[in-house]
Amino acid sequence: MSAEPQVERSPKVSDEVKKTTCYMCACRCGINVHLRDGKVRYIEGNRDHPVNQGVLCAKGSAGIMQHYSPARLRNPLRRVGPRGSGRFEAISWEEALQTATDWLAPIRKTDPKKLAFFTGRDQSQALTGWWAQQYGTPNFAAHGGFCSVNMAAGGIYTIGGAFWEFGSPDWDLTEIFVLFGVAEDHDSNPIKMGLGKLKTRGKRVVSVNPVQTGYAAISDDWYGITPGTDGLFILSLIRELMLSGNIDVDYLSRYTNAPWLVIQNPGAANDGLFLRDADGKPQIIDRKTGKTVAHDAAGTSCQLKGEVKLPEGGVAVPSFMLMANAYLDDAYAPEAVADKIGIPAARVKQLAADLADAAFAKQITIKQPWTDWKGERHEEMIGRPVSMHAMRGISAHSNGFQTCRALHVLQLLLGSVEVPGGFRFKPPYPKPAHVHPKPAGRPDQVTPGQPMAGAPLGYVLGPEDLIIDKTGAPQRIDKAYSWDAPMSAHGLMHMVISNAVAGDPYPVDVLFMYMANMAWNSSMNTRGVMDMLTEKDPHTGEYKIPKIIYSDAYQSEMVAYADLILPDTTYLERHDAISLLDRPICEADGVADAIRWPVLEPDRDVRGFQSVLLDLGARLGLPGMVNDDGTAKYADYGDYIVNHERKPGIGPLAGFRGDTGASEGRGTPNKGQLDAYIANGGFWHKDIPAAAKYYKMANMDYQNFAVDMGFYDSPQPYAFQIYSETLQKFRLAAEGHGDVQPPAHLRDRVKQCFTPLPSWYPPFEGSAIDEDSYPLHALTQRPMAMYHSWGSQNPWLRQIHGYNPMFVSQKLADKIGVVEGDWIWVTSHHGKIRVPVAVMEGVNEHTIWTWNAIGKRKGAWQLSPDAPETKKGFLLNHLIHELLPPKGDGLRWANSDPITGQAAWFDLRVHVERAEAGTAAEVAPQFDVIAAPPNMPSPPATLRYGLEWTTTTKTKTGGQ
Ligand code: SF4
Repeated sequence: MSAEPQVERSPKVSDEVKKTTCYMCACRCGINVHLRDGKVRYIEGNRDHPVNQGVLCAKGSAGIMQHYSPARLRNPLRRVGPRGSGRFEAISWEEALQTATDWLAPIRKTDPKKLAFFTGRDQSQALTGWWAQQYGTPNFAAHGGFCSVNMAAGGIYTIGGAFWEFGSPDWDLTEIFVLFGVAEDHDSNPIKMGLGKLKTRGKRVVSVNPVQTGYAAISDDWYGITPGTDGLFILSLIRELMLSGNIDVDYLSRYTNAPWLVIQNPGAANDGLFLRDADGKPQIIDRKTGKTVAHDAAGTSCQLKGEVKLPEGGVAVPSFMLMANAYLDDAYAPEAVADKIGIPAARVKQLAADLADAAFAKQITIKQPWTDWKGERHEEMIGRPVSMHAMRGISAHSNGFQTCRALHVLQLLLGSVEVPGGFRFKPPYPKPAHVHPKPAGRPDQVTPGQPMAGAPLGYVLGPEDLIIDKTGAPQRIDKAYSWDAPMSAHGLMHMVISNAVAGDPYPVDVLFMYMANMAWNSSMNTRGVMDMLTEKDPHTGEYKIPKIIYSDAYQSEMVAYADLILPDTTYLERHDAISLLDRPICEADGVADAIRWPVLEPDRDVRGFQSVLLDLGARLGLPGMVNDDGTAKYADYGDYIVNHERKPGIGPLAGFRGDTGASEGRGTPNKGQLDAYIANGGFWHKDIPAAAKYYKMANMDYQNFAVDMGFYDSPQPYAFQIYSETLQKFRLAAEGHGDVQPPAHLRDRVKQCFTPLPSWYPPFEGSAIDEDSYPLHALTQRPMAMYHSWGSQNPWLRQIHGYNPMFVSQKLADKIGVVEGDWIWVTSHHGKIRVPVAVMEGVNEHTIWTWNAIGKRKGAWQLSPDAPETKKGFLLNHLIHELLPPKGDGLRWANSDPITGQAAWFDLRVHVERAEAGTAAEVAPQFDVIAAPPNMPSPPATLRYGLEWTTTTKTKTGGQ
């Protein structure tokens, strides 16, 4: 007879439940945090929350272990050993903040550009961007430049929004859903819920992805495309649809610039620009009169064909004619592209036919009257039930911007944007490029000791908006908005460290970063970046980047490379605003925002970064952060969230505004606002009126609703931009027109890549190397259970992915003679890594891939140096360089999209070979073990959680 513990089947769960917002990935689901004995006992999804409606993923529930991670930093730290050693001393907050102030105050007075302030995947960019503006530096951006800016900017410039935070499929009505290159990535739970709806309704899910994992694994059709050729595939689909007449001509005429007249006057300064009237309004040909009229004139109907002779020379034709001319080219025939894209011609034709069938044979009609921007009343809403989603897979290439634009043009040709069953915007989108602010940072906009006149990030509309000086030299440290990356929109965080160390365009004095693991998985050329961070000026003996301030909640690899550490809280110990001013969480049918609030008080000497930033701002005397008497304006970030007004009546949160908390969108600050959010489950939500739910870009009911809510100050209806005049302006400059022209070495590139209609060109890395020597493409994907580098130190999530093998096709495995568990060398033009192999079906035969950010450096994250993440986990980053191989002229281009500067992670080309037997004890390369900062607990060999609540009952088991 023996006694064994038994599971108690109905335990008491918690003493109280607090409702806040998850931060285990970027989706921002609502969560109910169950607390017991003052500790987190359980996290569940909030069923009332608009984002997740109760759904919680593996990451979300593992938030408990994130909160109790042994890798949490405990004190402010000052470096005492050499950079990279990890040797620090604990200091007080007063010392830390005084040190930061002493570093930041003098350069603000002399040259505020000497501060480079960059943040990772933080969710407070409305604050951090404003702080940079008030400080006066143009050198600010978040992680978008190395994430998916091509998708965001391609969307904004084409349709006034993009996927995920900007819009979503009409899950309840769509007939076919096409996912391009999406791993379990951004928009995690909402896509899972949407896919569940589609599967329940028996609708078709199509995946276009070199790898059949994640969402692709449950697709009805998988197109295992060759990386970097998505644009060619999409243009071939467009050709098929145009040839077969399966395009929505009425939709194109009403809602896009397809009828707008484009001047054809080769060699002249107006070639390719829109024909405009004296008021600057683009012109169309009125079908009834044959005359040119403003595109928004009431009572007109337009022609998509025709020609207008221009008195000053040349002609003007509808941009639709240019489209037809470009896309009916045989170069886009399925047979012509099949080998390159890795998809047989018949399958391209089949998908085009499936899209056409869904869009036109399965048209939806909703009996809902609405009024359009010209005042025309419609009795119904016509839907084309085709929806799509894409993210980093098609973005992270040097041809990504044009590919993302092509995808939106495909949607527009089908008439499936912002219609029933199609892709729908989420407020405050749609918001086209011309409604966004332009970036500030030109020499005349940066004044020592003063704020900048505008925000550092925005949308340029032509060369005249670039952030360059009179000689054309870049003014930002990342060279964003220069001729290197004119339409960068999110900056180029991946170039900051290398540019600063090279002093190109100038050196900086302080690098201030938040939540950005640049010494490891967030950088290309990881070893090179570590070297740069420790590189010294041989003349002065000083580090080339003299001062580095870093804020993080955890002991990431980057911590060891900073001089001053400002330890952040976990997401359960802080205030946050999930704000409409930032990256919203609205749904297509409603407006929403949310908060985080301290459901637990920190048990360490840490502070929320946003509160620290406001404190620093006050110490520096930044306008907006101090009262007239010089005292701090805000007690902390919570105080700021309630009381800050970006303009009168508009603050970080749109709900519960005004004296009584009854105002929505606009309203004076409400002292009780945070309490109202907490009482409401941590969020606020408002339905969009029925007549305003579709055609938002052209729907006056929606436009007026948007003005009421404070999204704009006046209605901003617009037409979708299939033909981009902005791109053509840059091309004209490259042809020698205008006052602002690119340098000679970039002219051909601008002419080739800045086509006003989406085009495809081969990825740059493949063109820069001998493709026979590097015949394979190499990719990473983010696993379902992880988010960046946080997840792979979380003991519950590590049990799902403890290391990452390199996945290869069976065909490739046979060719190089390896089986599952063997090791291979993977070599690029830049580096070589030794990694374990796994063999799979369902991968493009020219592609190998692995999970992202699982590998860890020994000593970081409070993991054992023997942890599988350090011995069998690796980074592909070692193979990727931030620069392309040298060209014949000795110049090296950034490994980025030439239009936005998006990091071209997925252009990587490699070759593989079997690793010799006996060499494979662990992955290569390896690096010195980093020391842990002081006051960190020694990580236990086995991390246990919740033992105190495990009750056991003695039972007789011997007689079983
Ligand atoms: S999808 Fe992201 S935000 Fe939502 S529960 Fe999972 S980890 Fe949290």
